[in-house]
Amino acid sequence: MLEIEQYAKKYNIPIMQKEGIEFLKDFIKKNNIKSILEIGTAIGYSAINMALVSDDIIVTSIERDELRYQEAVKNINKFKLNNRIKLINDDAFNVELNDKFDLIFIDAAKAQSIKFFQKFENNLNKNKYIITDNLKFHGLVDSTEKMSRNLTQLVRKIKNYIEFLKDNKNYETIFYDIGDGISVSKKR
Ligand code: SAM
Repeated sequence: MLEIEQYAKKYNIPIMQKEGIEFLKDFIKKNNIKSILEIGTAIGYSAINMALVSDDIIVTSIERDELRYQEAVKNINKFKLNNRIKLINDDAFNVELNDKFDLIFIDAAKAQSIKFFQKFENNLNKNKYIITDNLKFHGLVDSTEKMSRNLTQLVRKIKNYIEFLKDNKNYETIFYDIGDGISVSKKR
């Protein structure tokens, strides 16, 4: 695992923070999660961590970047998890899935969280969960600092997503000040 963390650091690949990963693993264990859909594999770090919680967990993970996908394939093979982690190399918006999952983990383009949520919520089992990472976006969501126009737009979209979750009557959402900010939305 250390090797993957070092690779991510060296090549500037954003992977989940330690605190966030620990929260996710604990959540999966406590809630007896068995099937997971992840949007945003990067190099497979969170997918591998989630699959290692228990050997009856199945993960499907989508990554659009070819090089990151290839690296994820290598890492998953190293952990001999290729029978339990299914990788899809495509833009998530092109992917149609019929399966239902106990957990959908949204960790891809931060400006598009509402769209990912709406695209995949029909793939969620009843009373199960959608988790989203980076709701604080490195502290910028609560910052009054002057930011570039692009960053300001991105932060506005993350704030819109937070409001969308708060207003969504079909889910009960809890926000956690852990790692880079995590939300857990339970389908009613
Ligand atoms: N979950 C990973 C982890 O913690 O190990 C980190 C994922 S990284 C924060 C986000 C990834 O989502 C990037 O590798 C990016 O290429 C991918 N991504 C962004 N938008 C996407 C989309 N529309 N479809 C598929 N992948 C996407």
